[in-house]
Amino acid sequence: MKTFILPINMFKVWPTMNHPALLLHGGAGSWRAPRGLIDEAVRVIGEAVEHGWRFIETGSAIEAVVESVSFMEDSGFLNAGSGSVLNIAGYRELDAGLMDGRSMRAGSVGGVKVTRNPIKLAKIVMDETDHVMLVGEGADRLAKARGLPELEEPSRRLLERYVEQLNKYRVGEYSFYLRNRAIAKELGLLDTVGAVALDRNGALASAVSTGGIWLKMPGRVGDSAIPGAGFYADMDAAIAATGVGEVIILSMASLRVALLVSQGYSIQKASELIVNWVTEKWGPGTIGLIGLSKRCEEAIAFNTEHILVSYKGPKGIFAKFL
Ligand code: ASP
Repeated sequence: MKTFILPINMFKVWPTMNHPALLLHGGAGSWRAPRGLIDEAVRVIGEAVEHGWRFIETGSAIEAVVESVSFMEDSGFLNAGSGSVLNIAGYRELDAGLMDGRSMRAGSVGGVKVTRNPIKLAKIVMDETDHVMLVGEGADRLAKARGLPELEEPSRRLLERYVEQLNKYRVGEYSFYLRNRAIAKELGLLDTVGAVALDRNGALASAVSTGGIWLKMPGRVGDSAIPGAGFYADMDAAIAATGVGEVIILSMASLRVALLVSQGYSIQKASELIVNWVTEKWGPGTIGLIGLSKRCEEAIAFNTEHILVSYKGPKGIFAKFL
């Protein structure tokens, strides 16, 4: 009988095919929305993970996060794209950002007013410009030049609800949302969207998109436009945040999770440590994090009352309002 012995180190040179995974969030907060709207949001985030998965099957992690996020931007049910909240002056300004862990390149946009899918614009900033971040008119102009569709009006039902909330809580032209915890709790943070993905080649990516927080001042840019704060990806981990943008910027939460993972912490442990630290420094109700590691471990950690998430990967598929 002929025996064939594999050299021990052959396993090391064989290319590894990773288990892919995709994890999405639809915002962390107090979620004071009517039950019907929450059910719609769970349905949308469930469909978004299925939609994004097709791009994991055929493409890359970066494509999967862009497609999942733009699906949620288009849904009109979440605080991103056409579903975005109004600022204190009554109009929408959108932020989005993404990062490719393999190339360590990032792109983001802040305060865009007429672009339907800010996440697609952020990808153009990453792929086609020398810059990382574009804001306001210049960003919208690039979207137009690249033929990206224009932002649609929100549905009447959503607009009526937003205008009612705005009229109820708006006082003058300066935001006091962050200083008034009772109002912040009542309005909730609203359903910003985010995605992290690991593809078959082991590449990680992260993306986020938002209309920002309630009662924000015109010109306010949040964490979703800032790499390291609202999103981050490297060779070891991809992280997407949601919560009070100001806290997430000051804590550089996504970067901190990635640094802990690179030091050997599991992604869940790292996310919990950062959420606990943020809670100690800035209080509860301020942050939610999702993450994926290169070993295909997922993480969900938050200090808000709720978070909306969906997942597809080796552990199956789910869409949950936690
Ligand atoms: N982080 C977003 C912002 O502050 C809001 C959210 O996550 O709901 O713009």
